Amino acid sequence: MKEGIHPEYYQAKVVCNCGNEFVTGSTKQEIHVEICSKCHPFYTGQQKATSTRGRIDKFNKKYNVQNN
Ligand SMILES: [Zn+2]
Repeated sequence: MKEGIHPEYYQAKVVCNCGNEFVTGSTKQEIHVEICSKCHPFYTGQQKATSTRGRIDKFNKKYNVQNN
């Protein structure tokens, strides 16, 4: 068995600069972001749904979120 191919997986607490907090799966225990779903214009209805979805997919990939 090789070691290191399965990193520790946490329910990471994500803290935004706006004060919003939420939880997501990540290999990090805590994540600080400058912008989130509450304060980012992409998530407040100014963008089309397709654009928003691509943005979320990118985010999920970045933090290894399994969201099927
Ligand atoms: Zn925010």
